[in-house]
Amino acid sequence: MLRIAVQAKGRLHEETMRLLEESDVKLSLAKRTLLVQSSNFPLEVLFLRDDDIPQSVATGVADLGIVGENEFAEKQEDARIVKRLGFGQCRLSLAIPKNIEYTGLGWFEGKKIATSYPSILKDFMERNGIHAEIHVITGSVEVAPSIGLADSIFDIVSSGSTLVNNHLKEVEVVMHSEAVLVASKSLPQEKEAVLAELLFRMEAVKAAENKKYVLMNVPNARLEEVIGILPGMKSPTVMPLAQEGWSSVHTVLDEGCFWEIIRQLKAFGAQGILVLSIEKMIV
Ligand code: ATP
Ligand code: MG
Repeated sequence: MLRIAVQAKGRLHEETMRLLEESDVKLSLAKRTLLVQSSNFPLEVLFLRDDDIPQSVATGVADLGIVGENEFAEKQEDARIVKRLGFGQCRLSLAIPKNIEYTGLGWFEGKKIATSYPSILKDFMERNGIHAEIHVITGSVEVAPSIGLADSIFDIVSSGSTLVNNHLKEVEVVMHSEAVLVASKSLPQEKEAVLAELLFRMEAVKAAENKKYVLMNVPNARLEEVIGILPGMKSPTVMPLAQEGWSSVHTVLDEGCFWEIIRQLKAFGAQGILVLSIEKMIV
């Protein structure tokens, strides 16, 4: 039985649970307990605060964890990142009051910086030879400059609206972050095997994200042109329709280029275009 530590509530909770569900790990979450066993996969889920996830994995309380890379980097615990999960994207940035002129990193020399990420900040300042005073606060870092607690902040930014609301401007991006799957440095062989299966499933889920399965009817005379604009696949599936002179073409399209290609397909005479979501894709 493999044990995975996940955020009990907060910004990563929902996407984490969805990833497990889409990987067909069934969990009965009716009554909220600290530890929940899957009914169909050798996995149990331990619900923690995100701050505690890196240490729980490093000490072997859990075998795996899903946590923000920022939190993992800050805690400097002894564990390995096995997969970047593509959600919970944000960055850790330095920000200063918006009406102050920024003159480059040297601006921070001798300044007071409020943050919940002291070790990442300390590393960054040391690497750049800047001596700043780091002031640790655990919540509402963004208000520190306006109440005179610090000259600037080092904090999580995603849309930037929190900064704007607090009359701050982002001046340096120190780290990009997303949710990561982390694992204990060494796992017994049977646990590694369960991890490999879990990874295989997660990859199938991830591969299918932003992909659509597209079916359409195409006049045979235009088949070559249609096939010519379908990207990426080894080859589309082409099957004759009952109606003479027509074929059914099946392919997989990326959401990014989807509308552009559909428009061209229509121009080439494709009809009855059906678009389906893909649950999993094993490439
Ligand atoms: P906990 O109660 O588990 O300690 P928390 O309040 O420390 O939760 P959250 O605000 O839930 O943490 O954020 C968890 C993680 O989500 C962050 O560490 C970061 O990796 C990620 N994240 C993504 N976007 C944002 C954002 N806009 N603001 C804050 N965190 C974000
Ligand atoms: Mg936290």
